[in-house]
Amino acid sequence: MLPKRCDAVVVGAGFGGLIMTLRLRELGLDVVGLERGGDFGGTWYWNRYPGCRCDVESMEYSYQFSKELEQEWQWPERYSAQPEILAYAQHVADRFDVRRLFHFNREVVSAVFDSTDSTWTVGTREGEALTCSYLIMATGCLSAANIPAFAGLNDYKGRTYHTGAWPHGGVDFTGQRVAVIGTGSSAIQSIPIIARQAKSLHVFQRTANYSIPAQNAPLPEETAAAIKANYGELRERNWNQPAAFGAYYERNPDSVLTATPEERKARFERYWVMGGFMFLGAFGDLVMNVDANAHAAEFVRSKIRETVKDPGTAELLCPKGIIACKRLCADTGYFETYNLPHVKLVDVSQKPIERLNPTGLETGGNHYEFDAIVFATGFDAMTGALLRMGIVGEGGLTLKDKWSAGPRTWLGVTTSGFPNLWMMTGPGSPSVLANMITGVEHHADFISRQIEWLRKQGHTRIEADVAAEDQWVDTLNQRASLTLYPHCNSWYLGANVPGKPRVFMPYLGWPDYVQRLRQIEADDYTGFKVA
Ligand code: NAP
Repeated sequence: MLPKRCDAVVVGAGFGGLIMTLRLRELGLDVVGLERGGDFGGTWYWNRYPGCRCDVESMEYSYQFSKELEQEWQWPERYSAQPEILAYAQHVADRFDVRRLFHFNREVVSAVFDSTDSTWTVGTREGEALTCSYLIMATGCLSAANIPAFAGLNDYKGRTYHTGAWPHGGVDFTGQRVAVIGTGSSAIQSIPIIARQAKSLHVFQRTANYSIPAQNAPLPEETAAAIKANYGELRERNWNQPAAFGAYYERNPDSVLTATPEERKARFERYWVMGGFMFLGAFGDLVMNVDANAHAAEFVRSKIRETVKDPGTAELLCPKGIIACKRLCADTGYFETYNLPHVKLVDVSQKPIERLNPTGLETGGNHYEFDAIVFATGFDAMTGALLRMGIVGEGGLTLKDKWSAGPRTWLGVTTSGFPNLWMMTGPGSPSVLANMITGVEHHADFISRQIEWLRKQGHTRIEADVAAEDQWVDTLNQRASLTLYPHCNSWYLGANVPGKPRVFMPYLGWPDYVQRLRQIEADDYTGFKVA
C-alpha cells in the first residue's frame, strides 16, 4: 500500500531515480519512489533485446558518489552488456538500502499541483493517490516506446516485440521467419544475434545508419586496476569532456580539411580501431563543418563497401547524409550479417510499409510472411514519458499544452508554471548528449541541494522564472543552429514521431552547463522564483 502523504515522490527507478531517492533520504526527507516496472534498472530493465549493450565504456558508465563501490565493482567487458548493467543497478539499490523506499508495478498516470498548499498529488494506474511537497520525474529520455501506427497493426497474428519492452524470459527465434523493422542502435545491436537463430531474417530499412565497430573485448584486470588506481583523476577529466566521457582517448584537434589524403586515411583507420564514438575524435571539425563531416562519412561508406559482399546491398546500407547528426551507432558484426544467405535487406525509403496483415506485412507491392516481427522503431524521446503522464500545473495548465510547440524548460530541470516539480536530464539539459550516469548524478546533487536550501530558507515553493526560461530556450536553439545536428531527421528533433514538434531538445555544451549550474547555486538560485 502506498502512503497517502510524504515529503517527496521520485518517479522512476532507473539510475536517475535511484541516486535521487538516496540523496533526498540523506536530507532526512520522507521519500517514496514509484516505478512502473518490477525492479530497478530503468532503460536496462526494459531493453533486454539480444545484443543490448552500452556504447559508453563500463569504467565510465558508472556512479561516482561512492569510492568503495567504484573500487569494488568489477566490470567484465570494455562495453557492458545489459544484464551486467542491470545487476549493477540492483546491487546499488540493495547496497545503499534504497529498495525499501520504492513501490514497483506502479505506473504514474497523473500529477496535479494544488496551489493552496503547494503540493502535488500523484495518481497511479493502479488507482492510488499520493500527495507530496516535492515531485521529481526521473522518467528517462528513451523510455516511451514508439510503435508506428501501421495500418493493420492489430491484424497480424504472429508474435510482435519492441526492443524497448522485451520479454523478461527472452525470445528464442530458432527456426522462425523473422522481420526487424528499423536500423537504429537497437536494431544494429540485435540483428547479428537474431540472425544466428532465425531461419530467415528480413530487415526493413527506411534510413541507413552510420555504425562503427564497438571493438568490444574482455576488460583485462590490469587495465581496470590501473584506472581504479587513479579513478578520481579520470572522473575529473571526464567532467571537462564535451560528453562527460572519453578522457582516456586523445582527440585530435586538427582540421580534416588541411590533412593530406594519406594523413586523413591513416588517422581515420587509427580511430576506427579505437571503436565507437572515439572515431569522431579523429579530427577536430567532424561534427562542426559539413565539408569536414563528408570525409568521415565517406570513410565509413568505404568500410561498408569493403565488408558487404553484395554490391547492391552494400549501396543500400551506405548512409547518405551527415554522420553523427543522428546518434552514431556502435556494432559488433552488423554489416557482416548481410553476407549471410538467409538475411535480406528491404529498402522501404521510397515505398513505405503499407500495412500489416494476418501473416506478415506489405510493402512495394510485395507480401512478406513472418512468424515474428521485431519493432526496433525507437522511442518518443525526451518528452514522451513526461507528456504521457498527465501533468497539470498552476491554474490547470497542462504540460501537454505548455509544450505543444516543443519543450520549454529552465536548465532542463524545471519548467515555469509547474512549481516544486523537477525533471532529471529533462529536455533542455545535456542529457542524451552526455554520459547519462554522470548527468543524473549531477542533477540529483543539484536538485537535492536546491530542496535543502529551500527548506533552510523557510520557502514552500519554487519555480522557474519565465524570462530565464525563455532565454534558456533561445540559447539552446542558437547553440544547436551552429552545429550540424538540426540537419537530419533524428529523435533529438522529435522527427521520428509523426506530428511531434520539430525542436532540438537536448542542450549542447556539457562542461559549461555544469559551471552554469554551479554559479546559479552559488548565487542562491537566480532564474527561480520562491515563496
Ligand atoms: P532509433 O534510433 O530511433 O531507430 C528507430 C529505427 O526505426 C530507425 O531506423 C527508423 O527509421 C525506424 N523506423 C521508425 N519508424 C519507422 C517506420 N514507420 N517505418 C520504417 N522504419 C521506421 O531507435 P533505437 O534504435 O531504439 O535507438 C534509440 C536510441 O537509444 C539510440 O539513438 C541511443 O541513444 C539509445 N540506444 C543506445 C544503445 C547503446 O548504448 N548502444 C543501444 C540502443 C539504443 P528512420 O531513421 O528513417 O526514422
